[in-house]
Amino acid sequence: MTIQNKIALIFTVLSAGIILALSIYIYIFASESISGSFYHRLEVRAGIVGHAALEENKSKTSVYYDFKEKHLGDLPFENHHVIHNVNSARAGNIKSSLHLPESFYSQIRFDTPARFFRSDTSYVGMKIAKGDKNVLVLSTAVDVFGLAEMENLKNLLVTGFLISMFFVFTFGKLFSAQIFRPIRLIIRNVKGINAHNLHQRLVPNGSNDDISDLSKTFNDMLDRLEITFEVQNNFVSNASHELKTPLTVISGEAQIGLSIPGLPQNAIDSFHTIYRESERLEHLTNSMLSLAQTGFDGKKEQWEELRIDELILDVKEAVDKIIPSNHVAINFDHLPDDDQKLILNGNKTLLKAAFSNIVLNSCKYSDNKPVTVIIKADHTYAIVEITDEGIGIPDREINQIFVPFFRASNTEKYKGYGIGLPLAHNIIRMHQGKVDVHSRVDEGTRFVTYLPFK
Ligand code: ADP
Repeated sequence: MTIQNKIALIFTVLSAGIILALSIYIYIFASESISGSFYHRLEVRAGIVGHAALEENKSKTSVYYDFKEKHLGDLPFENHHVIHNVNSARAGNIKSSLHLPESFYSQIRFDTPARFFRSDTSYVGMKIAKGDKNVLVLSTAVDVFGLAEMENLKNLLVTGFLISMFFVFTFGKLFSAQIFRPIRLIIRNVKGINAHNLHQRLVPNGSNDDISDLSKTFNDMLDRLEITFEVQNNFVSNASHELKTPLTVISGEAQIGLSIPGLPQNAIDSFHTIYRESERLEHLTNSMLSLAQTGFDGKKEQWEELRIDELILDVKEAVDKIIPSNHVAINFDHLPDDDQKLILNGNKTLLKAAFSNIVLNSCKYSDNKPVTVIIKADHTYAIVEITDEGIGIPDREINQIFVPFFRASNTEKYKGYGIGLPLAHNIIRMHQGKVDVHSRVDEGTRFVTYLPFK
């Protein structure tokens, strides 16, 4: 989950908690207040009924009832039980018909009426005294309007809660999106910075806040990285350049040596070895130089229009020089009808280095068994498939073969440095292409490269 969504969610949960607590408080407060006033109305009526029951003068009794009826009116389902003698059988019957808890009766005092509520019915119990006589009045009624009001309030609070949750979540998302906008901008900018454009910097947002600090910190780090890359790049470039000239001289001298007539066989063999090894070393230094260029500085490439089939023929020529006994066969059967699909824009030297590294690996790791190179195209890419019958790459290591200096665990028998494939990968990516690898241990490997045609 993104931090943005997390913030929106936390914001919603917090607000939900607060709104819920507030709604419960309002509901309890309203319920207490409505039921309190209903109890009070029931107690007033119970008092009148009690006083009427204690009145000996019957004409006065009817005055009480008239007053109650005219000025107070009946409550819904209003019922009164007047008990003159709490120990009588009638009192027992009434009590058992009402099913009220014992604590209700023990609460009843002369001045404090008892209240009880069960299944929508309100119960009131009170003692009324006049002279030396007293009665116990048990009254019941249903607060139909109060209950309906509470039901309405409950619906209102639930609907209000759901609607406010919707708004809180929506606004929470908008709010966090707004807060994270500068951070997303930084992420997008940082993603765009790689070894090829290390000189790029983040643009501080002008304010004096944490985000601006973050941009400045990134820029400082990029300054340091750029210097380190530059130093490393210069070192590799200079070392490779310095090695190139003596190596060319050595291979040239070996070729001159080979042309001397009447040399003994062992001298010819030595010259051959010197020539082959110096070619191999030259290829290695060229690869290091190219890796330095492609990995550190994209500005140095020179791009031109080139044909992939011609490039592969050049690659074959270079491979023949290094491994004369190779069995690389180029298959032109799948060439596209449309020649345009073979033309791409790229750096010839780099692409040649990339493909020769892949083909040389195929020869090396198959002990010179046949290697097939197929050139074809789909609607976007010129595709080159290089298939060998070699040792293959263990499944769990296949993801690492493009990591510089990585060598698979089954390569002890073969010389290598782990820079050929990372270089090839860098070069092909630099040309907006991609490389797929399919391999089975002891059966062989297929590299499929895709380069967009013009
Ligand atoms: P190396 O100099 O070791 O060949 P690379 O960078 O060219 O370095 O290749 C990296 C690793 O990928 C190799 O060490 C090897 O384990 C594996 N690999 C590359 N090509 C092949 C292949 N055709 N068959 C089997 N393994 C290969």
